[in-house]
Amino acid sequence: MKPFIYDALPGRVVFAAGSSRSQLSAEVQRLGAQRVLLLASERERPVAEELTRPLGDRVIGLFTGVRPHVPIEVAEQARAMARDLNADCVLAIGGGSAIGTAKAIALELNLPIAAVPTTYAGSEMTTIYGLTTAQRKQTGRSLAVLPKLVIYDPELTFSLPAQISGPSAINALAHCVEAFYGLGANPISSLIAEEGIRALARGLPAAISQPDDLEGRTATLYGAYLAASALAVAGTGLHHKICHVLGGAYNLPHADLHTVILPQVVAFLEPAIPAIMARVVRALNTGAYETTAALAIHELAVRIGAPIALKEIGMRAEDLDPAVALIHEYVPNDSLRPLSAASIRSLLEAAFWGQRPQQPDQPPVERSI
Ligand code: NAD
Repeated sequence: MKPFIYDALPGRVVFAAGSSRSQLSAEVQRLGAQRVLLLASERERPVAEELTRPLGDRVIGLFTGVRPHVPIEVAEQARAMARDLNADCVLAIGGGSAIGTAKAIALELNLPIAAVPTTYAGSEMTTIYGLTTAQRKQTGRSLAVLPKLVIYDPELTFSLPAQISGPSAINALAHCVEAFYGLGANPISSLIAEEGIRALARGLPAAISQPDDLEGRTATLYGAYLAASALAVAGTGLHHKICHVLGGAYNLPHADLHTVILPQVVAFLEPAIPAIMARVVRALNTGAYETTAALAIHELAVRIGAPIALKEIGMRAEDLDPAVALIHEYVPNDSLRPLSAASIRSLLEAAFWGQRPQQPDQPPVERSI
């Protein structure tokens, strides 16, 4: 066995259907929190208020100004509120945007975070924070932003519509895939990633076809939890770097962008890391005798009706040339397979049209949408 380093991350996770109702109050008390600032978007406000009712006057304020990618003005407002109210804990109920806002507060004020995630984005398991200043998102890492408590309640995801569930879960799948070859990858994070893929592939079709299917929702949320845990330790690779550049430059929706790019990046990397991709295929458990990881991911996206083409999610044909140049400039050359302008172009074109990822010796077929 090759030597490895595994930097395990701390944090308490409660995973149970109904736990956001039955256990939140006791768990927050266990943290010793007396002055809790609640964070939720306007959309999640009703559920957040309902869930925190048992906390009574320990909730000293509610911040609903959360916005995607944590604009710095939002971070400043939320920090000011936490300071003014003398909060001793931030409780985020919602998706990555609410949890990202909690992280912005924790980073500066060093307050503990309790998180109740309601999507599959996975920010709650990582030490990564992001802040957007003048439309540029910058990310960093700090143990201070890692939630001390995470409550996963699959029942909270019943209300997630298919068009959010699908891409959000495939974004989680991207975390698993990249965790296999991130710089911090180790046998433990790879085990977690593989089991994450297995859970996502098992749960997602049911979560889409029947949004209140507890089994499907439970497997999908469990997969998302594992995905983020693996990513938090192993780090990311080419796929996330390309998404970061494209998302920032063209303001494309985060999870949709990951869904479109993942099969094409996997197709590009697959010849360089066949053993890893064989694990991905095995975990996806498609039942197909001969498939590739790229095809299996593409077919999963098609099956659940998730977007597969950049042109479906807001990119224009005239953006392709500058996008190739941007990726060439800002994405460091990949250690697994060198990138050339020509390889970036063919990857982006395939993603733009939503082509079925190419198998060796098979010409690309343009898909009309
Ligand atoms: P989000 O929090 O903006 O939620 C997406 C949409 O889903 C919103 O409209 C929200 O109101 C809605 N929603 C959330 N929960 C719902 C529910 N249960 N039912 C119905 N609707 C619901 O976005 P997200 O996709 O959760 O997270 C994306 C953000 O998180 C991005 O900014 C991304 O960069 C960040 N992120 C950070 C990390 C990290 O480690 N720091 C990891 C993953 C994602």
